[in-house]
Amino acid sequence: MKTDVIRGAARAISKKYAVTNGDRFRLKHCDPSESDGFAGIKKAQAPQHLAAGQEVLKDLQEMLYAQDHWSILLIFQAMDAAGKDGAIKHVMSGINPQGCSVHSFKAPSTEELDHEYMWRAMQRLPARGMIGIFNRSYYEEVLVVRVHPEILSSQKTPPSLVGKNLFEQRYEDIRNIESYLAHNGTVVRKFFLNVSPEEQKKRFLERIDTPEKHWKFSAGDVRERGHWNEYMESYERMIQATSSKESPWFVIPADSKWYTRLAVAGVVIDTLSSLGLHYPKVDAQRIADLKAARASLTSE
Ligand code: ATP
Ligand code: MG
Repeated sequence: MKTDVIRGAARAISKKYAVTNGDRFRLKHCDPSESDGFAGIKKAQAPQHLAAGQEVLKDLQEMLYAQDHWSILLIFQAMDAAGKDGAIKHVMSGINPQGCSVHSFKAPSTEELDHEYMWRAMQRLPARGMIGIFNRSYYEEVLVVRVHPEILSSQKTPPSLVGKNLFEQRYEDIRNIESYLAHNGTVVRKFFLNVSPEEQKKRFLERIDTPEKHWKFSAGDVRERGHWNEYMESYERMIQATSSKESPWFVIPADSKWYTRLAVAGVVIDTLSSLGLHYPKVDAQRIADLKAARASLTSE
């Protein structure tokens, strides 16, 4: 497939799922089972389209790295078994590993709890020219912590600062930090992989019934599933409060893995395409240096 056709499809899918203004966002309007956003592409053709997308992404990433100005931060949030790991693996598999870093955020360690919550994330921000991926992120602070407020008591924040506006303050701080990042050349793109409870149940059962997948399952996953509605309320409020033009959320249908992967790849391609990337321009002095090096090598 031609590069400009892929970029066109990437643009369309990116526009379709972007939330740039959260004011009117409602999760109930987003269908997790949607899989017809790419006109005409069906499951059987998905691998070939994904492979074509990976080629385009590989070229864009090389220019990003060579130019060394922008950083890309891709944040993935979702319920368990929504397909974060698979999406990250498939979308980034064609990319030079030296230009990419992935970090998975788990429950904070004792050292991390000795700092304010952004500390650990700030240390993992991608350098210029790099694509950084956060598999979960500081957004857990307005998701799992909002659903389980008792976690706050292990967080060591001075109790007088833990008031009823805590989560609204966190949204504000996150908005400000993401603006700061945008102003300094870190392009933040956030993905919520929107899986349905029925599909999650199917995937859990598959994990339980397949010995090779046992390691992916933990009893805690079923416990968290019991808080489904509270999680969905927290996701909705988070997307309303932290979507902006410069750092949008993308609410990606996640009941069909092949579709999720194509859509995430599309958003990443569109993000890189929008930066006007090019290889660094070579000045006259550099051309003269290259010529001199060639002459020296050929006269050896
Ligand atoms: P997997 O697909 O392998 O299950 P995962 O991302 O779910 O990947 P886990 O180790 O199962 O990884 O889960 C990480 C857990 O850490 C999640 O339950 C998440 O909510 C929790 N967590 C992440 N950040 C925080 C935080 N700041 N405070 C409390 N819990 C957190
Ligand atoms: Mg898990």
